[in-house]
Amino acid sequence: MKTIIEPFRIKSVEPIPFNTRAQRELILAKAHFNPFLVHSNDVMIDLLTDSGTSAMSSNQWAGIMSGDESYAGSPSFYHFEEAVINITSMPFVIPTHQGRAAEKILFTLVGGQGKYILSNTLFDTTRANIEYSGATGIDLLCKEGLHPTVPAPFKGNIDLDKLQNHIDQLGAGNIPLVILTITNNSGGGQPVSMHNIRETSKICKSHGIPLFIDACRFAENSYFIKMREPGYENTPVEVIAKEIFTYAQGCTMSAKKDAFANIGGFLALHDAELAKAARNLLIVTEGFPTYGGLAGRDLEAIAIGLREVMDEHYLKYRIRSMDYLTNKLKSHHVPVMQPAGGHAVYLDAKSFAAHLPVEQYPGQALSCELYVAGGIRCCEIGSLMFGKYDENHQLIPAQLELVRLAIPRRVYTQSHIDYVAEVVCEVFDQRQSLRGMKILEEPAVLRHFTAKLDYI
Ligand SMILES: *Cc1c(COP(=O)(O)O)cnc(C)c1O
Repeated sequence: MKTIIEPFRIKSVEPIPFNTRAQRELILAKAHFNPFLVHSNDVMIDLLTDSGTSAMSSNQWAGIMSGDESYAGSPSFYHFEEAVINITSMPFVIPTHQGRAAEKILFTLVGGQGKYILSNTLFDTTRANIEYSGATGIDLLCKEGLHPTVPAPFKGNIDLDKLQNHIDQLGAGNIPLVILTITNNSGGGQPVSMHNIRETSKICKSHGIPLFIDACRFAENSYFIKMREPGYENTPVEVIAKEIFTYAQGCTMSAKKDAFANIGGFLALHDAELAKAARNLLIVTEGFPTYGGLAGRDLEAIAIGLREVMDEHYLKYRIRSMDYLTNKLKSHHVPVMQPAGGHAVYLDAKSFAAHLPVEQYPGQALSCELYVAGGIRCCEIGSLMFGKYDENHQLIPAQLELVRLAIPRRVYTQSHIDYVAEVVCEVFDQRQSLRGMKILEEPAVLRHFTAKLDYI
């Protein structure tokens, strides 16, 4: 097989800032040992997130210039609407400034005290919006998903037996919707199979519960189905994506992911009444229905991005990039999530820093060290992000302690990724020196974004 090459050439470049280990130690201390608080011009390779960090294509930039900024009825909105309907077949398309704004509108309408939202795994903003409404979010990830280093093809699946049991116990009337996150971001970017989506939809239908898709990475998930699910080998990704949405009554999406946009999102629905209520909220918090929270130019860029992302040369390169880094780390015995996810490589911090108890946030300790050692910024997805306290202020840890190396779309080349592998391996060789951390200050919700920490 020939080498898989980046399916693009580069027309515009940005310099990478270089700094020394001593400088980075000072920078990190000033940022209270929270990489989210480090300035990006102090970061050499920024793997904090794949959200809004994609390189747009020359076509998208052309769309930025041709975007129509009319307050009402902009052609850019109709391009956007058409692109979303083409994939989802959902007739009501509501543009928002980000995915979480779509979630906020949706859960304000269907959430509230006494309600339960069931999912394979809720992303952090989704969970926050559910809980903010007074409802309870419940993750029902399949067993394979709970073992980061044990490979399985569809580790993002929801556990269908648990789903059925929860519906029986909680009562379908208290479950306004079930939402599947594809791919499962917080669970390692692992895909959900078509079979699992179809069976979830059957269970939901038999109880009259709508199924929603958190569609941020629908194209990456569709490509995994093509690669791994028998019967889909020869099906075009676009056809697979369309089939996924036939099982759903609605979806939320952040266009900052698989639409290659720097900002944007949407809520798409089949239900006319729900759409009417959503548009009323949209007008209060986002904007008029034909622009929502976005400029016409953003709508245009998203419309183009939604088509580009289904290009299979792109998806092949994209998924291969994660595999490439995962394999390099694996061959150095670094504990890494297997198989590779769609948008990120996840280190298993619990075994990487096995000498640190979860109360000392091993994932955060590792994230900090990757910055100091190589100027690489990444993100803890563990007990700093998802931990809670019991009544005695003891930590209730997250299920997994992961560190996410999210790969921005079309941004870094293979030698950047080689550098990342070198730094991770070097930190792994000296893992005994990783130091435990404590939280000094934290907000009540989404604490990982702004918490201040220090070494114990
Ligand atoms: C990013 C993301 C969101 C939220 O989208 P924003 O645009 O960041 O508000 C929701 N769900 C998943 C799975 C995501 O990855």
